[in-house]
Amino acid sequence: MDTANQAFKENEDKIRTQFLTTLAKPESDYFRKISMQNFGLIDSPDCNSTDKDRIDKCNYNIAIGLTSMAKAEITGVFSGNKFSASTQSLSDRQYILQNKTYKDILASLKKDLLGKAASPENEKKVKDLIFPKIKKLLAQKVNDLPIDEKKKSIMMDKIKGIQYAGTNCEELAEGMAADFIPNAFYSPAAQTFTICGGYLGNNFSDFKIARTIAHELAHSIDPCRIESAPEGMKISYTNKKDLAKMEDEYPIKGLIACLRSEKSIMATRQPQSPKNSESATSSSEKKTTDNKETADKPYSFCDGDQITESVADWFGDEVLVEYISQNYPELTTEQWQNGASNVFRQVCTPPSASDVQTPYDHHPEVQARIDRLLLVNPSLRKKMGCTKSHSKFIYCDAKNPDSMAKLVGGKKECPSCKESSPQSPAKNTSTTIQGGVR
Ligand SMILES: [Zn+2]
Repeated sequence: MDTANQAFKENEDKIRTQFLTTLAKPESDYFRKISMQNFGLIDSPDCNSTDKDRIDKCNYNIAIGLTSMAKAEITGVFSGNKFSASTQSLSDRQYILQNKTYKDILASLKKDLLGKAASPENEKKVKDLIFPKIKKLLAQKVNDLPIDEKKKSIMMDKIKGIQYAGTNCEELAEGMAADFIPNAFYSPAAQTFTICGGYLGNNFSDFKIARTIAHELAHSIDPCRIESAPEGMKISYTNKKDLAKMEDEYPIKGLIACLRSEKSIMATRQPQSPKNSESATSSSEKKTTDNKETADKPYSFCDGDQITESVADWFGDEVLVEYISQNYPELTTEQWQNGASNVFRQVCTPPSASDVQTPYDHHPEVQARIDRLLLVNPSLRKKMGCTKSHSKFIYCDAKNPDSMAKLVGGKKECPSCKESSPQSPAKNTSTTIQGGVR
């Protein structure tokens, strides 16, 4: 159970009692009425009675509804309670959400519950210790790769320029859910990194946090966002009509081809439907579109392509091993095994059955991210006491583009045009849980 749900569950009775106490006060009459209206209780005999027991019964039902709303705000998910979305119109609900009485109660709950989510010590540790170190290690990693010197310095400058932006995640979730959401993100425009409260509670793992930060910072140089900076500080593709050329031009030679390979994470591009193509073309061009990316539409790595997440994952794994090795040099192989298990613990979901159609997700499936990327990393394998390389999948060794190309098996014809097959790892994992960029 995630931190927000746990905090809510532990406090559910207390929250309901707080609503009950408030509803019983004469000065809360207006708040009580808008709540009755909202939950469809305005004509309820109990609520219109003068009998104390019946009024208490009515208030209890209102309090259940309000607690359910508070849950939605705390956890970001509706509880499915009969008093939630089904019977209420959004506008009535808004009157409650904006009401001062409701807001005051939520504010006092927030004070109580926050201690159970983000701990100030954990945040301080991220801000003063882990974030600066990861930033340095990621820049160092780029420095160690065979990249054109000019491009390398642009990439390193970009990483070094990322600032820590705190824990305000209100753009990801409404109300209190923002304080509990287990997420972290890189903002290309602001050039910042933000970590949300759900990562800073008692589920804190250095392995998970280090890798998450490295993953997010690596988004600054992923095949999409490498283009996102002012002129002179970005790396642009010369011909956006030629996908293979764009992949070739990505400064880390051979990495995209390797990550697209079936022997690696198999990062796919979303098959383009006519609707997708049309929405991306301007309305003045009413062209008939076929089932492929049309010739007049420039290619982009930014939408419907798992390569950005895969590159960020690749860097995340690399930097994770470096960070833990440097900061916890005494760990045993067993401790490394446990630490590695913590990396995806929070988002561990069983793979979906191959006959279940899930919508396209730009994150490869969690199992693939573990089996095909994390667990093929040779430095990690060594630390974990694995004596051989992975029996099924290959490590994309970006330090040695030639050997990497050999492992991938030479260039295929437009490897990235391949559509995701039912067996591919292109299945659904929650984007809100595993970090994102905005
Ligand atoms: Zn990501």
